Amino acid sequence: MSSRRPRAPLPPARVATVVAMPGPVQPHFLSLSPRVGTFAGRRERERSRPPLSAKKRETTMERLIQGFDNFRRNMTDDQREVFTRLASGQTPHTMFITCADSRIMPELIFNAQPGDLFVYRNVGNIVPPYAQHVSGVVAAIEYAVTALKVQHIVICGHSDCGAMKALQNPSVLKGKPSVEQWLKHADVARYVVAENRPTMMGEEGLRYLTEENVVGQLEHMRTLPAVAAAIANGSLRIHGWIYDIAQTEITAFDPLEGRFRPLVAGDAHAPDATPHARFSTPLPVANAA
Ligand SMILES: [Zn+2]
Repeated sequence: MSSRRPRAPLPPARVATVVAMPGPVQPHFLSLSPRVGTFAGRRERERSRPPLSAKKRETTMERLIQGFDNFRRNMTDDQREVFTRLASGQTPHTMFITCADSRIMPELIFNAQPGDLFVYRNVGNIVPPYAQHVSGVVAAIEYAVTALKVQHIVICGHSDCGAMKALQNPSVLKGKPSVEQWLKHADVARYVVAENRPTMMGEEGLRYLTEENVVGQLEHMRTLPAVAAAIANGSLRIHGWIYDIAQTEITAFDPLEGRFRPLVAGDAHAPDATPHARFSTPLPVANAA
């Protein structure tokens, strides 16, 4: 349990290390919510919105710096011990791949501690197929599996995803050639839904797209040799989840039932997208040579 004892105030945070961070991140097309309406509507508003004043930018950055200062000052002894223990290495049990959307905070929603999760985020929680695109996410997965020996990889999509909305309405990608190119890796979802649920539009269509994107990215991930080998020997399990922001609920892909089911704590049969391990037992001694 955490304990706190009075301590002398820490010296001011070494601000020089903080101000080297990039400028304040302005949630862009990833941060749509029902309150801000449609992607196109948001785009129009952004066009007409005056640029942030220098004062506002300073205030935003000052909030970050002050937040870090508060974090250091209010750290419990237990937290300090965790960071001391982690200073020389990490052994996360799970790699968590999710969208870059600012509303998704994995460590917060899973009540995770530093060192628990190896988190990778990108636009649309995408994993390009092996050998098709050398990307940061592919390198991170390879590292997580071969060096960190994570036991689980979760690919987690989310409700109200701007990237999935862009799949529904590609015209909004005009002027964003890199994003447009990146989202080609999610074409599998668009195609599957268009072929099988052609009349599904709006919210329902978005839900199908978001789910199919997770299923498609799981398939892509299995093309990575390191992932395939670890699944085959039973040392890695993979999971496809959707996080609903408004409901704070998670559904998980159940390949046996072909649908996403609610994730419930304590459920011994929680959905798991891992194929059966074919090499989980060692060769019999007589054949080993
Ligand atoms: Zn998203």
